[in-house]
Amino acid sequence: MIAERLQQALDRGINRIGELIILRDVADSAFALCHIDDKDRLDELEIHRGAGAARDLSTWAEDGHYRFTKGELSLKKGWMLLLTDLNELRQALDLFYPAALGVWIAQEDGTLEVQHLRDKLGRQTGMYKFAKGISDAGAQRLVREVCGPGNCCVKKILWQLDADTPLEDSEASRFDGTLGEPARSIPLLCREACNHFVAECRKASKAEFEAAGAAKG
Ligand code: SF4
Repeated sequence: MIAERLQQALDRGINRIGELIILRDVADSAFALCHIDDKDRLDELEIHRGAGAARDLSTWAEDGHYRFTKGELSLKKGWMLLLTDLNELRQALDLFYPAALGVWIAQEDGTLEVQHLRDKLGRQTGMYKFAKGISDAGAQRLVREVCGPGNCCVKKILWQLDADTPLEDSEASRFDGTLGEPARSIPLLCREACNHFVAECRKASKAEFEAAGAAKG
C-alpha cells in the first residue's frame, strides 16, 4: 500500500523528501537517492548500494555529530545510494525518515491523528512530568527557538498548543516541511512534539517556576 502510493507520487513527478532527491534509472538501478545539494554533481558521488546502507548514511552529520532526530537538517553529502526496485526505495526512505511516508499518506487521506502539545505534555511521566507546567507564552517561544529550519528541523508542525490555541505566526510555524519545489516534494510532518521539544519544555517550565519563586521573594 505504501509502496503503491509512493509509485503514484513518483509518477506525478514528486522526487524530493526532506534533504533527499529521488532519481530514476541511474546506472543499473531503478532508483537512486542523494542529497539535494549534490544533484548537479552525480559523477563525483561515492556509490553505495542497497537500502540497508541508508542506516549509516543517515546516522552521522557532515561534521561528524550524531543526528539525534532524523528530521534534523544535517544530512551528510557526497554519496549516492543505488536501489534496485520500489521496495528498496521505500525501505531506504523509511530509514532516512522513519514513518514519514505513512504519516504523509494518512494526512493526504484525512486520517492522520495529531496530538496537541498540552495532551503530549500531560502524558509525560517521571522527570518529564514537570514539562506540563510550561506557560503558553513559554511554549510559543520554544516553537520559535527549537523548531523549523532556522533551528535545523525540517518538519512542518501540525499540532497546536491545544485544540483552541494555534501556534503564533513565525518562521517555524509557517514552515511547510519541504526544501524548495513544494509541488515536487513529500513534506516531512510533525504530528506531535518530539522528545527534544518535550525536554526543552521541562527546562523552560523549571526556569519559569524558579523565576516566579524569586519574584515572590
Ligand atoms: S517538535 Fe517537531 S518540528 Fe519541533 S523540533 Fe521536534 S520534530 Fe521538529
